[in-house]
Amino acid sequence: MSRRQKKLTNKEISFASIGVDRLRVARDGDGITTLVAGAGCPLRCRYCLNPQCFRAPLHTYTLTELLDEVSMDNLYFQATGGGVTFGGGEPLLQAAFIHEFCSACPSEWHICLESSLAVPRENMEMVLDDIDQFIIDIKDMNPEIYRAYTGQSNEQTIENLKLLIARKDPECIKIRIPRIPLFNTKADQARSSRILKEMGFTNFEFFEYDTDISNSKR
Ligand code: SF4
Repeated sequence: MSRRQKKLTNKEISFASIGVDRLRVARDGDGITTLVAGAGCPLRCRYCLNPQCFRAPLHTYTLTELLDEVSMDNLYFQATGGGVTFGGGEPLLQAAFIHEFCSACPSEWHICLESSLAVPRENMEMVLDDIDQFIIDIKDMNPEIYRAYTGQSNEQTIENLKLLIARKDPECIKIRIPRIPLFNTKADQARSSRILKEMGFTNFEFFEYDTDISNSKR
């Protein structure tokens, strides 16, 4: 593990959060985890699962505050191989904070990141050596489907996927490939997984969005 606990170097840096959820089991990352959900997202998915990320943050944490709050479960983390999962919204919008957090937290904590990777390359580079496990929500590898569903190009996401597979063990990366009602098909899911396999990824989760399409908002 490349992370080493060190003294806090940037106590002023802060993290805008839409919530912290403790004592999660087998939901995101190994062992018992605490989910720290970041505010904001560059995408506008038609069936957004976390629309609260676009509202005002519930709390803005300093580094010391968040470390203190999640440390209450330190014994659970250490006993189960668990730790902290950063999700959102898009947590990599606040990559500098995540890097500082990982530098300051106990090195035994398992740090997981849930991201769409739709962020600038420098945000990725800031945390690549800090994260133990990546869970990537890829939407669809077809640029037209991606744009129709998210409102954005997937060029940046693909660049970040290349960076990720070049620098990390595929075993520590799970790619989630959804079936998105009205936007893609099972054949599109299979096509996305073929492209990703050719890139070197090996660990996929296929699932169907459980959504009421009449609630599509964007
Ligand atoms: S990636 Fe899509 S589903 Fe996730 S928070 Fe952003 S807009 Fe919502």
